[in-house]
Amino acid sequence: FPSEKIRNFSIIAHIDHGKSTLADRLMELTGTIKKGHGQPQYLDKLQVERERGITVKAQTATMFYENKVKDEEASGFLLNLIDTPGHVDFSYEVSRSLSACQGALLVVDAAQGVQAQTVANFYLAFESNLTIVPVINKIDQPTADPDRVKAQLKSMFDLSPDDVLLVSAKTGLGLEYVLPAVIERIPPPPGISDSPLRMLLFDSFFNEYKGVICYVSVVDGMLSKGDKVSFAASGMRTTKEARIGDTIYRTKTTVEPLPGFKPVRHMVFSGVYPADGSGFEALSHALEKLTCNDASVSVAKETSTALGMGFRCGFLGLLHMDVFHQRLEQEYGTQVISTIPTVPYTFEYSDGSKLKVQNPASLPSNPKYRVIASWEPTVIATIILPSEYVGAVINLCADRRGQQLEYTFIDAQRVFLKYQLPLREIVVDFYDELKSVTSGYASFDYEDAEYQTSDLVKLDILLNGQAVDALATIVHKQKAYRVGKELVEKLKSYIERQMFEVMIQASIGSKIIARDTISAMRKNVLAKCYGGDITRKKKLLEKQKEGKKRMKRVGSVDIPHEAFQQILKVS
Ligand code: GDP
Ligand code: MG
Repeated sequence: FPSEKIRNFSIIAHIDHGKSTLADRLMELTGTIKKGHGQPQYLDKLQVERERGITVKAQTATMFYENKVKDEEASGFLLNLIDTPGHVDFSYEVSRSLSACQGALLVVDAAQGVQAQTVANFYLAFESNLTIVPVINKIDQPTADPDRVKAQLKSMFDLSPDDVLLVSAKTGLGLEYVLPAVIERIPPPPGISDSPLRMLLFDSFFNEYKGVICYVSVVDGMLSKGDKVSFAASGMRTTKEARIGDTIYRTKTTVEPLPGFKPVRHMVFSGVYPADGSGFEALSHALEKLTCNDASVSVAKETSTALGMGFRCGFLGLLHMDVFHQRLEQEYGTQVISTIPTVPYTFEYSDGSKLKVQNPASLPSNPKYRVIASWEPTVIATIILPSEYVGAVINLCADRRGQQLEYTFIDAQRVFLKYQLPLREIVVDFYDELKSVTSGYASFDYEDAEYQTSDLVKLDILLNGQAVDALATIVHKQKAYRVGKELVEKLKSYIERQMFEVMIQASIGSKIIARDTISAMRKNVLAKCYGGDITRKKKLLEKQKEGKKRMKRVGSVDIPHEAFQQILKVS
């Protein structure tokens, strides 16, 4: 294909505004997939995506299109479409996808209008110099108000109302204008076709049968079947070596490597350990394969006294972490215990040394030198909401140690807020809280900002006098006592009675700040079965075994998996 017959574009939008559905329709229109193939959101291939109804992995589809709207010599176009995830945790996927494109369809729900991720995605595309084709979707809905959305697009992004396409990906209304607009408005890839070959590796995934599959965008030159290529940054002999952002060129030529991507910044860290019954080797293999499909996760070996050998993984956010754990289990059948998620902190001691902490356990409880300063990461958050909820949201942000940076009206009823917040404060339940104080009407997005100084302490949890490294956490000093108390209560409710008494304590340094005990009891599941129904007995025993799998014996106490997860929610 000559490059003037090629168009590379992404579909970007706020979550649920209809990207994946629109991608389905465009693939049907071009005959790439059959109409009524029975699986909506065709590009959402992963089980997690289907279950959660979200896209977590950008997906690419190539379509052939006969542009019949144009002149007699209607000739074929090659269209590469990338469907992107909408959730903030995956904006790294979006920016990588955009680097392979010259244009983007910016999809906005006709009833909901511009939302926080619409803004974030617009700026990602705008900063990558992409041609933006605005598409208002879901015009079939009774509450659709396309004129209002057009006005928002004009006031926020300076997009002309005349350029906006009105469609319904559900009913098919207006869809015939989408691809002609793509062809007419989005420029072909700019590469110089008679220059030496340069390709950008923008995504890769691991296929059980074929090995590593790379998605590349041809930046310069031409690639033909049978050509031999090399990788600028790596030799690509093992799966690990397919490095996202790498430049691929024709073997034996010399080229200037492409700039690649800025490194990922991990926002949340958590330990991943094999659950009893699942081996370390199996987990290690599963992690290796899964990180080929999701290069944005960092993995490093670590050892915990409580949990044994495992890995410290870095994630882009909590949803990303959840999805990763779910994929480990669903796609690789590994059972894992994941520890309390933490954000990265920095501590400075009186001897001038600095310590970066990705695992609270690695911070000494009784350090040799005094801590003279500590820092935590912050984010710049964008919140869009109906104006009647502004007061509640301002209170919420103040409670989370936020600092207001901007407060503007998008139109008569909608407000745009910008805050700087400690990452720690938004990483767990901020979004849920925000939804609850705005009856579900607020949307939220954030980008990482600099570290700020903060008064931080390490909180240890002791079971029967023994500190459990996997339960240690770092908290703001002012919140330490409250958190310690809540943690002990929470653990008490999660840990089942054992055959002996269990004492739970929270401490800062050598000072105990909260304590409680779980009295001893012998639990007999079969006591519930009067009479002799043997199948019922078996079921109960199996159920108990099932429950046991997710326990971790620490010292002599069985701790259920949920307990490890609950900690951050209170702190
Ligand atoms: P994505 O998160 O942007 O990929 O959104 P999806 O394509 O998964 O769509 C989210 C929801 O909106 C799904 O339930 C779709 O069926 C629905 N949807 C998509 N397009 C339309 C439309 O044009 N009209 C209506 N009424 N619903 C739509
Ligand atoms: Mg989607």
